[in-house]
Amino acid sequence: MLSVQDLHKSFGDHHVLKGVDFSLDKGKVLVIIGPSGSGKTTVLRSLNLLEMPDKGSLKIGDANVLFGKRLSKKAVKQIRQKSAMVFQGYNLFPHRTVLENVIEGPVQVQKIDKQEAIQKAKELLEKVGLREHIDKYPHQLSGGQQQRVGIARALAIEPDLLLFDEPTSALDPELVGEVLKVIKALANEGWTMIIVTHELKFAEEVADEVLFMDQGTVIEKGQPSGLFHQPEHERTKQFLSRIR
Ligand code: ATP
Repeated sequence: MLSVQDLHKSFGDHHVLKGVDFSLDKGKVLVIIGPSGSGKTTVLRSLNLLEMPDKGSLKIGDANVLFGKRLSKKAVKQIRQKSAMVFQGYNLFPHRTVLENVIEGPVQVQKIDKQEAIQKAKELLEKVGLREHIDKYPHQLSGGQQQRVGIARALAIEPDLLLFDEPTSALDPELVGEVLKVIKALANEGWTMIIVTHELKFAEEVADEVLFMDQGTVIEKGQPSGLFHQPEHERTKQFLSRIR
């Protein structure tokens, strides 16, 4: 359902992505690992065009784009609506309640009937364990609760693909587990997901495939049992031994 080919991205003269290729089947979970600055976040942000790649192609479901030339607004919109991102820093609207945050996308962007969106949002907030907090504001919640709102908000637009950018790295250690538990439950439900994380134990549990990036390229991709325990490449071995 997803195919990325020869993705390149530079910021000024810094060539950050140097030809990234991968694909992912529907219902599978891909975890991206790699050292700081290797381009993991840039890959993720490229998938919903928060960053515009310079070259390469991207296919998500029935939407296709070829980078390097000016894209039509229609093509950009088609790709963007395929995925939803869960950010490291939650990115909630601070002056809106939990419920208002979750219905924002469906009501404002997708033009779904407000009552219908509210009903759906309540179900999603129940699912992430926040039903009793729907009228609170983000600052009244813990980081773990805010991130679970971020997840409910992403689910609310019913994307084909969920993107998680280091979803637990801003959290105090005792709050990490509650967020990982929700993400694992989504994986078990069959959501197609790409997760950038430094939580290797979690990665091993949740991933169908793991992709190791270094310096803007994919060094190695494989099943977690192989990549984590018998990596083929020296750079993967070094990274895993440093981080463990
Ligand atoms: P981390 O694990 O630290 O989040 P990462 O692997 O996700 O790292 P990216 O965030 O994709 O790496 O960044 C890759 C490189 O691109 C870094 O050197 C970063 O400074 C640079 N970079 C990312 N975004 C921008 C930007 N908007 N402008 C300039 N440079 C950027």
